[in-house]
Amino acid sequence: MARDGVIARYRDVQASAWGIDVPGVTTVLPTADRVIALTFDACGGPHGSGYDHALVAFLRAHGMPATLFLNSRWIDANIRVFHELAADPLFAIGNHGTSHRPLSVCGRSAYGIKGTDDAAGVFDEVTGNRDRLAALLGHPPRFFRAGTAHCDDVAVRIVADLGERVVNFDVNGDAGATFTPGQVERAVLGAKPGSIVIAHMNHPAGGTAAGMAAALPRLIDTGFRFVRLSEYVW
Ligand SMILES: [Zn+2]
Repeated sequence: MARDGVIARYRDVQASAWGIDVPGVTTVLPTADRVIALTFDACGGPHGSGYDHALVAFLRAHGMPATLFLNSRWIDANIRVFHELAADPLFAIGNHGTSHRPLSVCGRSAYGIKGTDDAAGVFDEVTGNRDRLAALLGHPPRFFRAGTAHCDDVAVRIVADLGERVVNFDVNGDAGATFTPGQVERAVLGAKPGSIVIAHMNHPAGGTAAGMAAALPRLIDTGFRFVRLSEYVW
């Protein structure tokens, strides 16, 4: 749908829900299979454009697939790494927004980060990075996660009109890369069949890589298998 069409359709529509788990957002895989979807965000910006090489090397060494939600600013700062990740069949690339803003039709904020102001702002936040990814990958991304993972129910509908699905999580693996390795390990070991785990791949000094390296083999030992979102969500 074009920008004008989105603006016209949603101009007078009020949001009625706000947060990480609002109507229309996928937070778990629709299955009882013993599978877990690992998702790693790369948020970009002045304090978020690092690359956790140890984390990615661990996933590769163990053949563990994941879906990577990349923001435009992170891609700009890591274009060589981007191409390396995009070429690796272990990983699928998702859309983590253009300016990393909460997705709101009325300017709501999350964690002090100002959200988009209206339907046009939602359109721009989603399509800026969608178009960048489509040009780089040769196809548009299927999944979207807002900066801070916060969105309202109207924004979720706009994302769907734009051909993407908002995917969040039921297991917060690293609390924005603030967890110690032990905290990451405990959080990730709480995953259940069908869980979607969020963590970050843009803070190499954090505890994420070490915590994942401790937790993920133990999940394999208890019969879990890791999958990309696209294997269970469409
Ligand atoms: Zn982020």
